[in-house]
Amino acid sequence: MDIKNLVKPNIRSLRAYHAEEIPCRVKLDANESPYGVKALKTVKTNRYPDPEAKALRRLLAKQFKTKPENILHGNGSDELIQCLITTFGGPVLFPTPTFSMYGIISQAQGEESAGIPLDEKFDLDTDNFLKAIKSRNPKLIFLSSPNNPTGNSFSEDRILKIIRQSKGLVIVDEAYQAFSDRKSFVPLLKKYQNLIILKTLSKIGLAGLRVGFMIAYKDVIDEMNKVRLPFNLNSLSQKLAVETLKKSALMRSEIKTIVSERKRLFNEMKKIYGIEPYPSDANFILFRTEKSDKIYKELLKRGILIRNMKGIIEGCLRVTVGTPNENRAFLKAIKSTV
Ligand SMILES: *Cc1c(COP(=O)(O)O)cnc(C)c1O
Repeated sequence: MDIKNLVKPNIRSLRAYHAEEIPCRVKLDANESPYGVKALKTVKTNRYPDPEAKALRRLLAKQFKTKPENILHGNGSDELIQCLITTFGGPVLFPTPTFSMYGIISQAQGEESAGIPLDEKFDLDTDNFLKAIKSRNPKLIFLSSPNNPTGNSFSEDRILKIIRQSKGLVIVDEAYQAFSDRKSFVPLLKKYQNLIILKTLSKIGLAGLRVGFMIAYKDVIDEMNKVRLPFNLNSLSQKLAVETLKKSALMRSEIKTIVSERKRLFNEMKKIYGIEPYPSDANFILFRTEKSDKIYKELLKRGILIRNMKGIIEGCLRVTVGTPNENRAFLKAIKSTV
């Protein structure tokens, strides 16, 4: 029996998201923070978690100057992307290249999706984007700003144009906003009812906990709560997320270190002949080189794992900002390969 024949056609042609697990000494491939939380506190493991994650949502509401009813928690923001697409369906629109899960989840759910290429500065191509909004009338538009994997933020006025022109929901994915000088779009929620802000704790030290959340109008969240699985966020993650967010001073100083390391890394990379780093507002740097495959392999031989963007942006590699020592190791190794 060939199981493939039983699978829905849209799933059959899909490829599983490949999260590489390559053993290495210096891990700079997945945009994780090099800094984590050490304390492991116990929780009541015999009881189900709080299905509404009340303590966490209350705390987040306070931090973002909104109400708990405007916050929805997810098992990572990935789950919220899935929940959005399940609730509202397609067409789904996003720029390319961008975070791959927008397209993968759309296809898995059998929803129509389209990617509109970014312009030569990796900014939104407003003309083509607005044309696509007119012709396709998307229910959902995903804008990751700062964008993964290019690292830049999109122009605020271009994002606003899209929000204003769209009759559907526009999700500004601020997974990397903590590393950027740009203002968050959260205050604009007051003005635009079709705006949703997506956030995650994954890139600021809690990737292992799987905690994502979104801020939106209550009507949007009420509909999504119909499809969200009741106990989607486990007790340990809820508790550790609350404890860590309460000690946010520590997180802030680590974020500052990462941002200053990013600037140093960028300046050092610019000096290396044969590689061209792109400016970044995130915790990673995308760079172009004619020898991308060779550099990727040579770095791995030296125990340093970065991300090869082959198939997404040709001739590009992406390095996550690590600790000062990890970054030095990366720089030393790359200088010896080019
Ligand atoms: C990493 C990432 C996410 C997913 O984060 P999780 O909360 O870990 O699921 C969402 N959006 C973008 C742009 C990302 O890079």
